[in-house]
Amino acid sequence: MAFAYEPSAKQIIDLSEGNKIAANEDILRQVFLNPSVKDKPVCVVSINGTFRQGKSFLINFFVRYLKLKYKLKKITSEKWLNAEDGNISGTAWKCGSGRHTVGILVWSEIFITELPSGEEIAIVLLDSQGTFDVDTTKQDCAAIFAISTLISSVQIFNLKEKISLLDLEHLECFSGYGQLALQEGSRWNAAPFQNLWFLIRDWPYQFEFDFGTSGGQQLLNSVVSRTTELTSELNIQKDNILKLFENIYCCLLPHPGETVAKSPSFSGKLEDIDERFLKHVEEFVPKILSQENLVPKTINGEKIKVSDLFTFIQLYCDYFSG
Ligand code: GDP
Repeated sequence: MAFAYEPSAKQIIDLSEGNKIAANEDILRQVFLNPSVKDKPVCVVSINGTFRQGKSFLINFFVRYLKLKYKLKKITSEKWLNAEDGNISGTAWKCGSGRHTVGILVWSEIFITELPSGEEIAIVLLDSQGTFDVDTTKQDCAAIFAISTLISSVQIFNLKEKISLLDLEHLECFSGYGQLALQEGSRWNAAPFQNLWFLIRDWPYQFEFDFGTSGGQQLLNSVVSRTTELTSELNIQKDNILKLFENIYCCLLPHPGETVAKSPSFSGKLEDIDERFLKHVEEFVPKILSQENLVPKTINGEKIKVSDLFTFIQLYCDYFSG
């Protein structure tokens, strides 16, 4: 059954009731068993991170790109962010989504396109929210991060200003937790996680590494390289992260400007957003969502279909609740 109303963010997994990881079967069914998409291979893009760090704001750019490119077929050049297409937020991602709830949201509309090979592919967007700094909920957040890593082909780790050692510790712990689920089910044995992006917001050190993905790559090299100044434990941690993902990338985004960050009256007008931020978002989004960059989700080396997400998400929720 398709949604009869405007697309919006829907909570598919939450932790609000008695701290149990609960999947919302009705929403899963509506989104992933929709006859028009259920049998197609799927690219699952997940953005993960703590609250109030601009995830929803960024996802609105993702939704705009997907809509313009694959539904309205309006994008013909690298310049796809135009004021004539309206404001960037306010109507989309936040609508209907429970704020500050630990859990996973899905964009209810699944977009369809073709890979360069001509094969059809469905694109699913997820937003995973946690509070990684609070110890009492760390285990729950680990489970949410693990589930979103298990079900996505592209995991974007949204961080503010830097990649800290604590972020690496969380990443290793949370993803390692997910790997346990892979190992216990023989069907999933040996499937590595796919692409990981570190997305650094409000990057303050442009003089050291420039904005965008080339500066990001340099930062990444400096962060993941082994160094004699670090303890062997930290070096092992870095090695573990490198082994968990097939590819790791990084992008450094500029600050979006004071109006976006602080003004209660910010309505999502492009002209109120810092031009450098817009330029780098305009470059970053197609690196994830253009046809040649879409990554089909695989488990055990096999491409999965949209309808498989219905099953896997419930299995993983049971696993981490148990
Ligand atoms: P989420 O909780 O991570 O989804 O965060 P939101 O997208 O709701 O953004 C939280 C606040 O930060 C809002 O006031 C946004 O306008 C603002 N914001 C969005 N993106 C950025 C960014 O890149 N940097 C800064 N400093 N603020 C941002």
